[in-house]
Amino acid sequence: MEKIIKCRDVGYDCDGVIRAKTEEEALNMAAAHAKQVHGLNEVTPEVVEKIKSVMTEEQ
Ligand SMILES: [Zn+2]
Repeated sequence: MEKIIKCRDVGYDCDGVIRAKTEEEALNMAAAHAKQVHGLNEVTPEVVEKIKSVMTEEQ
């Protein structure tokens, strides 16, 4: 089972999709992506909540 985060669902105009085995890894990867690709300075608790809310699972 994989955790999937679609960047577009977080609110960016981006086709990036993050796939990871655990929620923690997915959040870390999403945070790194947001910083590197979208120039986000800080991953706030609000951003983390938003990412969690759009995270889905794939068998
Ligand atoms: Zn993105």
